Amino acid sequence: MKKLAILGSTGSIGVSVLEVVAEFPERFAVVALTAGSNLTRLVEQIRHFRPAMVAVRTAEDALKLKTVLAVAPPEIVVGVEGLMACAAHPEAQMTVSAIVGAAGLVPTLAAIEAGKDIALANKETLVTAGGLVMATAARKGVRLFPVDSEHSAIFQALEGHRKSDVRRLILTASGGPFRTTALADLQRVTPEQALAHPNWSMGRKISIDSATMMNKGLEVIEARWLFDLPGESIDVHIHPQSIVHSMVEYQDGSVLAQLGIPDMKTPIAYALSYPERVPLKLPPLDLCAIGTLTFAPPDAARFPCLALAYHALRAGGTAPAVLNAANEEAVDAFLGGRIAFLDIPAIIHATLDRHRGSEVTHIDEVLRADLWARGEARRTISSGA
Ligand code: NAD
Ligand code: MG
Repeated sequence: MKKLAILGSTGSIGVSVLEVVAEFPERFAVVALTAGSNLTRLVEQIRHFRPAMVAVRTAEDALKLKTVLAVAPPEIVVGVEGLMACAAHPEAQMTVSAIVGAAGLVPTLAAIEAGKDIALANKETLVTAGGLVMATAARKGVRLFPVDSEHSAIFQALEGHRKSDVRRLILTASGGPFRTTALADLQRVTPEQALAHPNWSMGRKISIDSATMMNKGLEVIEARWLFDLPGESIDVHIHPQSIVHSMVEYQDGSVLAQLGIPDMKTPIAYALSYPERVPLKLPPLDLCAIGTLTFAPPDAARFPCLALAYHALRAGGTAPAVLNAANEEAVDAFLGGRIAFLDIPAIIHATLDRHRGSEVTHIDEVLRADLWARGEARRTISSGA
């Protein structure tokens, strides 16, 4: 029985994780849950999975929970400290990191410091502080199991092979809802159109990231740290069918890929049950019905976020944290109808341009850069520049 702490349990990934747990109750148990919103869903989850500890954002939310769960409530904790307590819960054997955004960094690091293996969905943890996080994991003997489908594919294609034989990683990208939209039309697309991903149903922030292709940029940085390869050895192919989840090219020209229907339960279950595989009840991949798999290079002119991410990765230090924070602010403004779609890369670009980067030796430097970038991005957004 593996005991799990699940951060961000009410989100798209959190719900899928709990579906996997519910399907295999003899394998997994839940010791802690955390939610930033959606108390109704959280209450249902608490009643079903009976965690020992639950974290919510505010004292007001904690009070609401206590009232609803009058009989035998779990221990309820609050705020960032509460997230950290759940992430490092003494009974947890693995912590699932599925909060969205840079807010996931501090609790994920707390779990690593406490020696918990991590099932990592929160890519922003590695984007903002990859070097620090990987060094801490190595010091603590902690393993990070990717939940992101591309990284799970690469993880699987690397199993049993020598890292020194790898020539290149190829991340696949669906291309999102605007894969074929002309540049002139991109300026007018609405949040509703951007949220309508062709292949995956996901949280709002990552859906917009998929539409701008910043998601793939963040994933390049995530791959750099997870697999310890430079950005120059990580390429991106547009693959609209989302069947080949990513590939590893070896020195001899062999390319190993992992395929499957686009359902996050597959990479989630592998992260939770590694090295075993559980018999998930999903429709099988029917390649004959799909018939054709296609690949194309990404279009840098229509999707400048990808190049911005490569640029931040090359710059190193605090630059990726700045890229990420500016992106979070820009996405939020776009969803709120305050900026247009193509303003997202413009705001990130402007913020990165103004940033005077520094080395990262401590988490505080990352948090300071994050805060600075949010301030800069918000100023640009409110000035309408
Ligand atoms: P989501 O918005 O659906 O859920 C996020 C969860 O985090 C919710 O439980 C929310 O309440 C909580 N949360 C948000 N902000 C918080 C804060 N400040 N403090 C505490 N809790 C907070 O997001 P998602 O789509 O499930 O994505 C989660 C992470 O997984 C992201 O980093 C995303 O990039 C990554 N990911 C998601 C998918 C997917 O299919 N959804 C695929 C790959 C990777
Ligand atoms: Mg992904």
